Amino acid sequence: MYKSVIGLEIHAQLLTKTKLFCSCSTNYGEPPNTNVCPVCLGYPGALPVLNKEAVNMAVKAALVLNCKINRFSSFDRKNYFYPDLPKGYQITQFFKPFAEDGYLEINLRGKKKKIRIERIHIEEDAGKSIHNKETNKTFVDFNRSGVPLIEIVTKPDMESPEEAAEFLKTLRQTLMYIDVNDGNLEEGSLRCDANVSIHKENEPLGTRVEIKNLNSFRFIQKAIKYEIEDQRKKLESGEKVFFETKLYDSRKNKTYTMRSKEELLDYRYFPEPDLQILEIKEEEIENIKSEIDELPVQKAERFMSEYKLSFDDAFLLTSSKYLANYYEKIISHNKLPKKTANWLLSELLRYVKDIDTEFVNPPVSPENFAKFIEKIEKREITGPIAKEILPELLKSKKDVETIIKERGIKSISSDEEILNIINQVLEDNREQVIRYKEGKTKLFGFFVGQVMKATKGAADPQKVNTLLKEALNVSK
Ligand SMILES: [Zn+2]
Repeated sequence: MYKSVIGLEIHAQLLTKTKLFCSCSTNYGEPPNTNVCPVCLGYPGALPVLNKEAVNMAVKAALVLNCKINRFSSFDRKNYFYPDLPKGYQITQFFKPFAEDGYLEINLRGKKKKIRIERIHIEEDAGKSIHNKETNKTFVDFNRSGVPLIEIVTKPDMESPEEAAEFLKTLRQTLMYIDVNDGNLEEGSLRCDANVSIHKENEPLGTRVEIKNLNSFRFIQKAIKYEIEDQRKKLESGEKVFFETKLYDSRKNKTYTMRSKEELLDYRYFPEPDLQILEIKEEEIENIKSEIDELPVQKAERFMSEYKLSFDDAFLLTSSKYLANYYEKIISHNKLPKKTANWLLSELLRYVKDIDTEFVNPPVSPENFAKFIEKIEKREITGPIAKEILPELLKSKKDVETIIKERGIKSISSDEEILNIINQVLEDNREQVIRYKEGKTKLFGFFVGQVMKATKGAADPQKVNTLLKEALNVSK
């Protein structure tokens, strides 16, 4: 039986307006090579000036990841040639990172685990090569060149693909909560590399293999799973696992070699002579600390104690801070925490694809949704009717009362009215009533359905149930 050992390296783009060493914009998706200047194009003689906002964001991230912030750190050059790296080197922090020794706690179906963080360093991004298959030409876009990143390196503390994915999810959520990263894996503002090795219990760690550029939670799990299996097969057939860098092909679901050991690059790191030592003062750290709001885990725990929500509901509601804020705004109006959570999570979310972007400007205003829930609570509209009008509420942006008026919805709430309908249904279905009496109790659902149909969903289903049971008991 082999044990797997997994460590992650995550590159997260910091949400600054300008690049790390120049004042070019970091806007994504602009025409190629429009956000460039002599500094980020690596012109000879152009000098980098450190973006203070990037440092502040990096410190904020390091604090929520429980890291020790180094008062003094420095920048270094990582030398290699690549067409999208105009200077011929990348400015990073190699010898002394600004933050070390942290951890992030993950929650695996109720089981908590601390994943240690070895270091976090600040560095600049490279440009982007665009390969055009039709013309067989390669283009380079330097808009991304010099965009600020932090690289977060974990200890090899994860033991399964699921744990690795959960860590990445928690990290993404945490960085988004404090507004230092937008969490966009597809656009590459959050990128993940995984180091994977396997070994037998009580034996030393195996040789690790690095898998580069995993850009979805699903792929990270699949790639690591494939890699573990691949290494196990090799070891069991007497082969060796060599250190190498691999890529994951999601269409074939397999990893393949990108660089073998022989091709390992020697980056010839040396201190960056154009930048000063980075000093982060104690009072600056304190200032940044005071800006940090409640984090997802604390929020979820507060939701459970304050609003008496279940673990699952609290967890889901706090998965995005926009969704959590939206929820709290609604219940500030209607004071119905449980019912609001139910309807928000089980019904409204069905119409929302991405809670992180769509709840920045929610599909229905909190006031309107609060009123909608109130109407259900007061039984002015029934559950089925509420479900029916929800899409209109989202699409039309109309007030819930207007929709109810326009549709001529009236709820049937008096026992007498409902009983009349029930008696009619039983009268119309005498044969089924007899079979029900003979023991075919499954027919109860059929009667409920008939009554609801006759009332066009306007009767409270709970009431229908109770009254129907009574009526069937006394009917002959
Ligand atoms: Zn620039």
